Amino acid sequence: MSQSTDRPEPVDAAVTPRFGAIPTFMRLPHIPDPAKLDIALVGVPWDGGTTNRAGARHGPREIRNMSSFMRKVHHVSRIAPYELARVADLGDAPVNPIDLMDSLARIEAFFAKVHAAGAMPLSAGGDHLITLPIFRAIARQRPIGMVHVDAHSDTNDRYFGNNKYTHGTPFRRAVEEGLLDPKRTIQIGIRGSIYSADDMAFAEGAGMRVVYMEEFAAIGVHKVIAEARRVAGEGPTYVSFDVDGLDPVYAPGTGTPEIGGLTTLEAQHLIRGLQGLDLIGGDVVEVSPPFDPSGNTALVGATMMFEILCVLAEAHHRRAKRR
Ligand code: MN
Ligand code: MN
Repeated sequence: MSQSTDRPEPVDAAVTPRFGAIPTFMRLPHIPDPAKLDIALVGVPWDGGTTNRAGARHGPREIRNMSSFMRKVHHVSRIAPYELARVADLGDAPVNPIDLMDSLARIEAFFAKVHAAGAMPLSAGGDHLITLPIFRAIARQRPIGMVHVDAHSDTNDRYFGNNKYTHGTPFRRAVEEGLLDPKRTIQIGIRGSIYSADDMAFAEGAGMRVVYMEEFAAIGVHKVIAEARRVAGEGPTYVSFDVDGLDPVYAPGTGTPEIGGLTTLEAQHLIRGLQGLDLIGGDVVEVSPPFDPSGNTALVGATMMFEILCVLAEAHHRRAKRR
């Protein structure tokens, strides 16, 4: 384990005000070398998997901007992520806005370098298809578990003829490719009208635990946390947070909004409740700033990214102590 002396720190807001300087994730330095990091904050400005309203390609830049609101210590858990892990803004993964397959290859190659360097990725999308090339980069050695917050299961098969790759298909592909263990996967907040009555047959048939929004409302966030911990178990677990899991009252800036969703506070409780799991990375996806000129959805995205960062840093710290 490297020593703690080279841990990056955010720009000091008492010296340079939050509205000043160049925006990076959490006002951390931009360090393009993942070997210097335990947790790499990465933008993936790509929405070529979007089937309806595009715009999530603009997510990383606006999340960086709004992340200037984030301070250094979590107010409930008291986790100070920059004291527990080396964290910085690694920059953006390379993408090709006019070529889907080329983008998947570029994103995977980028994250493969992050993974090989031993850094955990925490990414800002981008649409939800970006999670598939990330899994290809970090889950080849063994299938991983996932805590997935979303209005949608994202386990459809094909769109527009024979197209296997959209933001509605990543987790079906991930199971087929042996990257995602469906029995260690929990989907939380699922709702909205569906294409056909058997839309959920793949997810449920494969053994994913699906917490529909109606069950979430009936049992409450703390029982859902217990269920997420049971499903994820002891193994390596990724957190994928689609901002449309939230009610569009809180996060209107997204391509596929569905009413009747989680509150921001429920989502914050949920992420905090994952502390102690063997977390290996995460993402916040589908923030689409053009649909929210107020900027609040990007603030929600930045804040959820900080929530995930805190539990990732704590997981890193626990593993480092064991070594
Ligand atoms: Mn999704
Ligand atoms: Mn969704």
